[in-house]
Parts: sequence; C-alpha cells; structure tokens
Amino acid sequence: MSMFDEIHSEEGIKCNCGEEIHDFQTKDLDNLLEQFILNKNGTIDAEDYTLKSLPKEERNEFGFPFFKKELKGFYKMNLTDTIHCYTNCGHGKCWIDMTLTFVDGTLVNKTIEVSELE
Ligand SMILES: [Zn+2]
Repeated sequence: MSMFDEIHSEEGIKCNCGEEIHDFQTKDLDNLLEQFILNKNGTIDAEDYTLKSLPKEERNEFGFPFFKKELKGFYKMNLTDTIHCYTNCGHGKCWIDMTLTFVDGTLVNKTIEVSELE
C-alpha cells in the first residue's frame, strides 16, 4: 500500500477556479498517514500521538486495524529539508504542486505551481 502524510497549510493557496486550498499530501515525510501543520509564521508542527492496540472486538471483519491513534497534540519540528507536496482542487480541474524548504524549522522558500488537469 502506498502511504503518505498530510500537510495542512494555514495559509490558503488559490487555484485557477478561485478555490482556497489548504490540504496537501506528501511522500517526503514519514508516510504514516500523519498530520502536519504549516503555520502562517513559517513553522511546521507534527502531531504527537500514541498507538493503542485495539481489542479484537473493536476490529473489523478482516481483523483491522491493530492500532488506534490517540492524539496528544502537536509539536514544532526542527526540520531542515525540502518537502514536495501536492493536491488537486475540489473541482478536479487544477493540480497544485508546492515545494517547501525549511532550515532549522523555519520556512525559507516556498514555490507553488498550479496546472490545469485534462
Ligand atoms: Zn481549481
């Protein structure tokens, strides 16, 4: 199974339809379906959680999931890296690529590319 993480950008990115986009996917972080928040001030937060094993009677007919995520909060990441994230708009007309470069946990560069889907 191909996994990814989600980045929620506090600042909306306008696509060609005029829709404000806030939620992106990325494969450049943990790829564990985790949530990250890009704050307006350029810092990035990661969710802090514990995995609690689910008793058999709370799993589905195939025996999944084994664990349940219990969110404890978010913490500021001290990230130095470039992350590519992407999404399409709700109209299915635009594809948005966003590249974020962080140094010591602060955003130093952001590029956004909006292209039209066929
Ligand atoms: Zn659009």
